[in-house]
Amino acid sequence: MEPTGKEFAYLHVCQRKLWLFRHGIRPELEYGNVQIGMLLGEKSFSREKKEIPLGECGVLDWADFPDGVIHETKKGKSPGRGDAAQVAYYLWLLDRHGVRVREARIHYPAQRKTDTVFWSPELAESVEKDAQMIAEVVSLEVPPAAERKNICARCAYEEVCFA
Ligand code: SF4
Repeated sequence: MEPTGKEFAYLHVCQRKLWLFRHGIRPELEYGNVQIGMLLGEKSFSREKKEIPLGECGVLDWADFPDGVIHETKKGKSPGRGDAAQVAYYLWLLDRHGVRVREARIHYPAQRKTDTVFWSPELAESVEKDAQMIAEVVSLEVPPAAERKNICARCAYEEVCFA
């Protein structure tokens, strides 16, 4: 089974979350923060935006293929390693399928900020290492233990972890 872009992000956010998600426990669609994120994605760039599904692996928010740029919109307050890992995986997937892209831009509309992740052989290696780690985490018999951290208060799994 191919990992999803979300799973690449979760690997860097919380490995317990990654495990729960892969094993079918998915409260996030009912969670306000996620819905706000979807809404931001829909409203902030409505003129340019055209989602592009990547099979079961994820969805590009939109892309400018002639320029070799893909785009992702996030509601998060601060850019995180997970966001970069997710778009790196999309760049890797596209390259593997012969679609030449040179960078991914991650938009944080609430902060009026954009981060850029550039495609490179080193990035490809890092994606492949992440894929290996995802496979190791999701093959565990039980999820990694819940350890409270700052992001837990905003995580859709909080009740699952700390009820
Ligand atoms: S609530 Fe915290 S420990 Fe539980 S999945 Fe979310 S981030 Fe991980």
